[in-house]
Amino acid sequence: MAGSSFEYTVLTPSEEALRDEVREFLRTELPPGSYEPDLGMSATHSPEFSKKMAARGWVGMSVPRRYGGPERTAVDRFIVVEEMLRSGAPVGAHWVADRQTAPTIMKFGTDAQRERFLPAIAAGECYFSIGMSEPDAGSDLAAVRTTATRGDGGWFLNGTKIWTSGAHQNHWFIVLCRTSASEGDKHEGLSQLIVDLHAPGIEINPIPFLDGTHHFNEVVMTDVFVPDELVLGEIGRGWQQVNSELAYERAGPDRWLSVYACFEHLLRERVHGTPGARTAEVIGGITARFFALRNLSLSVSRTIDRGGAPAVEAAIVKDLGTMFEQDMIAALHDLWGAEPSLDAPTTGERMLARAVLTGPSFTLRGGTNEILRTIASRGLLGWYGLAGAR
Ligand SMILES: Cc1cc2nc3c(=O)[nH]c(=O)nc-3n(C[C@H](O)[C@H](O)[C@H](O)COP(=O)(O)OP(=O)(O)OC[C@H]3O[C@@H](n4cnc5c(N)ncnc54)[C@H](O)[C@@H]3O)c2cc1C
Repeated sequence: MAGSSFEYTVLTPSEEALRDEVREFLRTELPPGSYEPDLGMSATHSPEFSKKMAARGWVGMSVPRRYGGPERTAVDRFIVVEEMLRSGAPVGAHWVADRQTAPTIMKFGTDAQRERFLPAIAAGECYFSIGMSEPDAGSDLAAVRTTATRGDGGWFLNGTKIWTSGAHQNHWFIVLCRTSASEGDKHEGLSQLIVDLHAPGIEINPIPFLDGTHHFNEVVMTDVFVPDELVLGEIGRGWQQVNSELAYERAGPDRWLSVYACFEHLLRERVHGTPGARTAEVIGGITARFFALRNLSLSVSRTIDRGGAPAVEAAIVKDLGTMFEQDMIAALHDLWGAEPSLDAPTTGERMLARAVLTGPSFTLRGGTNEILRTIASRGLLGWYGLAGAR
């Protein structure tokens, strides 16, 4: 593709050795039958498991050694994440801190913030949520109405965040807020603050998911004091910073592996011997798309390691990946031939029931597919030298 960095790449021998090490770890720590596998990144919050991963150097993998991290590559992180999600491992506690908070603090934080948060993140002990969305600001993120007003030595935050995953379990969240009125351009006057989820003035209200689980929340902030040392980056540069943070969210295996463990469990439980023609067709179709998406996603990680900034490619992978996940749920649901039950005796059926109920969220979280297509189409016009075209 002209201008794109989707280049075919394979794992090197040392990367394959890392993959073997992760598989061995999972065989020991999560033997089959010892846990209820999760659907991708909306995983069980297990500080114990996060600390075990961290002891291997698999949390906060991008964090430099001088801040207590393992300073590994994006491909190394891809390998660890792929194996964890494939197994439905309980990676929920450190998920956001590892994927996007650590690189964001590394990029925009002060030295004091890096020293305070990065070693704790890499130790698997410090967990973050994302404080972007608001009741009337999701896709139109710059419309946030949470305000921070200047006080003595810091800022007073007032407003409401919504869909805040894990706020009831995590320690901190990074809040996008308005620190000055926008004069015409609503992208101006925004800032990011690092906020203690246990600070006075924070109220966390659960929003139950369709499958009955408590995953996300409404977070109401009333005169929450945030000291100056917890301002992330520059006051007024929140829009640029938040877009950089969003780019970390988009092309990883979490965007195409959410249903893999369900697929594998269903096959093990239901298919004995040679599958029938319809089952074989479904398995073949899913496998082929997995293979293509994995190669696209891996190539994005390789490009990052080579110093590239593949934001357009990441948007394309997330769009294709999350649509694949939903198609896969529909195909498995159809093949199942009945409504799966959340209380079923078999793991595969329980997972399928959860997937049917929560799958619609896959194309919303982290930016909806319509928004991603806008990003991708603008980028593609640029690649083909048609940026001014209509
Ligand atoms: C499981 C899950 C977890 C989440 N976790 C978090 C979290 O931890 N922290 C956080 O801050 N947020 C979180 N979110 C919120 C998520 O980022 C938003 O749901 C998302 O950005 C969409 O915003 P919205 O829900 O307000 O939908 P809207 O923006 O109202 O969109 C509604 C529909 O309109 C379409 N649309 C909107 N604008 C346009 C446009 N310009 N062009 C074309 N179509 C458009 C959208 O694509 C969508 O189909 C989570 C969401 C989910 C589902």
